[in-house]
Amino acid sequence: MTREKLAGVLPRAALDTGVALERIRPVCEDVRDRGAAAVREYTARFDGVDLPASRVPAQVLADALAGLDPKLRAALEEMVRRVRPVHEAQRPAGHTTRIGDGAQVTEHYVPVDRAGVYVPGGLVPLPSSVIMNVIPAQVAGVRQIAVASPPRPDSGGMPAPAILAACALLGIDEVHAVGGAQAVAMFAYGTADCAPVDVVTGPGNAYVTAAKRLLAGTVGVDAEAGPTEIAIIADRTADPRFLAADLVAQAEHGPLAACLLITADPALAKRTEAELRPQVASARHRDTVQAALAGQSACVLVDDIEAALAVSDAWAPEHLEIQAQDAAGLAMRVRNAGAVFVGPYAPVSLGDYLAGSNHVLPTGGTARHTAGLSVLAFMRGIHMVECSAAALAAAAPHIDALGAAEDLAAHVAAVRIRVPHGQDVTSGARPATAGADAQQRPAAGPPIRPDLAGRAPYGAPQLDVPVRLNTNENPYPPPPALVQEITHAVTAAAGALNRYPDRDALSLRGDLAAYLGHGLTARQVWPANGSNEIIQQLLQVFGGAGRAALGFEPSYAMHPLIARATGTRWIRGAREADFGLDADRTVRAVREHQPDLVFLTSPNNPTGTALPRAVIEAVCETAPGMVVVDEAYAEFAREGAGTALALLPRYPRLVVTRTMSKAFALAGARVGYLAADPAVIDALLLVRLPYHLSAQTQVTARAALAHSAELLATVAHLRAERDSLVGWLRGTGLAAADSDANFVLFGEFGDSHTVWQGLLDRGVLVRETGPPGWLRVSIGTPAEMAAFRAALTDVLANAQGGADR
Ligand code: PMP
Repeated sequence: MTREKLAGVLPRAALDTGVALERIRPVCEDVRDRGAAAVREYTARFDGVDLPASRVPAQVLADALAGLDPKLRAALEEMVRRVRPVHEAQRPAGHTTRIGDGAQVTEHYVPVDRAGVYVPGGLVPLPSSVIMNVIPAQVAGVRQIAVASPPRPDSGGMPAPAILAACALLGIDEVHAVGGAQAVAMFAYGTADCAPVDVVTGPGNAYVTAAKRLLAGTVGVDAEAGPTEIAIIADRTADPRFLAADLVAQAEHGPLAACLLITADPALAKRTEAELRPQVASARHRDTVQAALAGQSACVLVDDIEAALAVSDAWAPEHLEIQAQDAAGLAMRVRNAGAVFVGPYAPVSLGDYLAGSNHVLPTGGTARHTAGLSVLAFMRGIHMVECSAAALAAAAPHIDALGAAEDLAAHVAAVRIRVPHGQDVTSGARPATAGADAQQRPAAGPPIRPDLAGRAPYGAPQLDVPVRLNTNENPYPPPPALVQEITHAVTAAAGALNRYPDRDALSLRGDLAAYLGHGLTARQVWPANGSNEIIQQLLQVFGGAGRAALGFEPSYAMHPLIARATGTRWIRGAREADFGLDADRTVRAVREHQPDLVFLTSPNNPTGTALPRAVIEAVCETAPGMVVVDEAYAEFAREGAGTALALLPRYPRLVVTRTMSKAFALAGARVGYLAADPAVIDALLLVRLPYHLSAQTQVTARAALAHSAELLATVAHLRAERDSLVGWLRGTGLAAADSDANFVLFGEFGDSHTVWQGLLDRGVLVRETGPPGWLRVSIGTPAEMAAFRAALTDVLANAQGGADR
């Protein structure tokens, strides 16, 4: 039988979206024209709740999460833990195709800016729907995700608490108490309460589905979700009890659910029917199950397993179970299905909740052309076309021919204005001459990784000005006695430069451990060329492709940059308004994202904020992977700000990174280090380059450590200078963040760049970094700070009494 004929005889509920379409059209138009007022009226009319504003207050979300049954919460968290990695693996990698010398096309994937997720209210709320829709959007990198779900009179006029709790669990703070077609229209057109979104996803009733169809041109939509369905291909090895249970489970979704058992074994069909009787009779939703099984459901007897596959492909089921010999082999041959469940122990119920796969799947035969919900619903591949003059010249004759055939002369002219006739090459894509190729090569550039293409390198401006307060260096040079000792040590080491240095830097590690105290030994300390290299090694071992790191911004910009360079996905957590971190919110972000690494910077660059130890402990308790506390500025912290070093014995996945660049005035020597469990250091050995730390570096660092008392004396001066600067800045009416580091973040300026430029014009270089409107100044010598204060006073006075602030 052909596919068309088979499709004609197989049962499926008939859906008439046409009627629903006509009913929702005026609703959608009204929301388009009148916005929030129309949404409010329809909510009152259809849901019986009058809400002055659609957005669910933050407290209601927090209360819903606090009131969530702990067992359900644990189950939802487990679901998140399983669903997230499956979708992370889905995120498409960009790729570059070289078309010839100087011509290439790069496809890179970009998430939409804002997505709307619809979650139906229904008789039984489905928090799993929240997770299945929100996680792909989060993994895709969508910056704003809003959820809409109908309000319920029995839930205090708010959406179902379980749905709100699931949103809160995922860190979604924008939830609208709006249902039905008006919710889809609100997302598509936007209202005063809800900005328009780029994509709407999520299941819903016939009206929601109709609204998605109607508004598909205005907003991106996912596949239409119709009544659910299952097909089971079974042979004599299948257990009839399992088959009956899975048919009943699908049927309990609703009377329009469709269930197909496909088998070549009449005896199995009979035994399954016999099993169905008691299972249906004892089903909790017996009437629904009976209606579905008596309606669009059937047992299809086929000649053999080949025919079973043909029937299933013709029907294109949302869910296909294969309970037969060589189930995995058969599954690989399936052409049309939303998801395939392989073998006796992978029932659809597992897929609904905990397989890790997405349960939003194509229904009604649309599996012939559509896949289940994935990160791709929230992303677009963008082609980036690059071409050198020589490569364009090579293509020009073909464009001449195509443009002529399509009578588009201006197309041809747009090429020929760049590469006039006589410069082209007619055969193949090779440029005219090697000389021309060599000349043009810089235009196209070398074939670098697409995720790095077009990026600007990181680095503070290196300007030759008298007062440089932009890179948080220690303004005091090493004292003469230390300079002399370094000179001797380097000279001695020079005599052995024919040999590689101690690749494990054991002596230096011993000295660093002694300096840190806390009972640490050389086995727990690891140095590298600056703490930047330490961070790189950590991301190389614990991050990488398919893995993610979470940091709380604004923070040290190299963390995300090194993450990107190592192929690690960067997740941007947020700080509080005072630049600190709230333990609960931080833990929630960690729970939500389940990152492989968490970066905590304390004191934080560029804000200067130190973290209470309780926050670090809470993160260590929650994080599934490594916790990196970047303590580059630890020595500058005010009394009482603890170090995470004390937590090392309790948390084997905690890493504390430090540097000699700041307090030790050794930025030029490039020495950073970490303290961690020896197993972490063993892991780093897998990626470090052999002999990464030169002999000179090692002896220089050891000499500086021998002078630590002297060097650290400058730290006390710098702290005092910092505290006085904060007081002075505040005295002038500016804001200055509390700082535990050797710099201060100050603002807020309407146009911080003009202030930065004004300071530079007066010979003082500070750093444009941090939140918009703020600037960062490193603490210099008293003379440098006086120059800074004078310059800033002057800049502010010149800005007409501070009018640009
Ligand atoms: N961590 C933080 C927070 C920093 O601010 C810096 C440098 N500014 C570093 C690490 C890296 O320092 P280095 O590589 O010099 O050790």
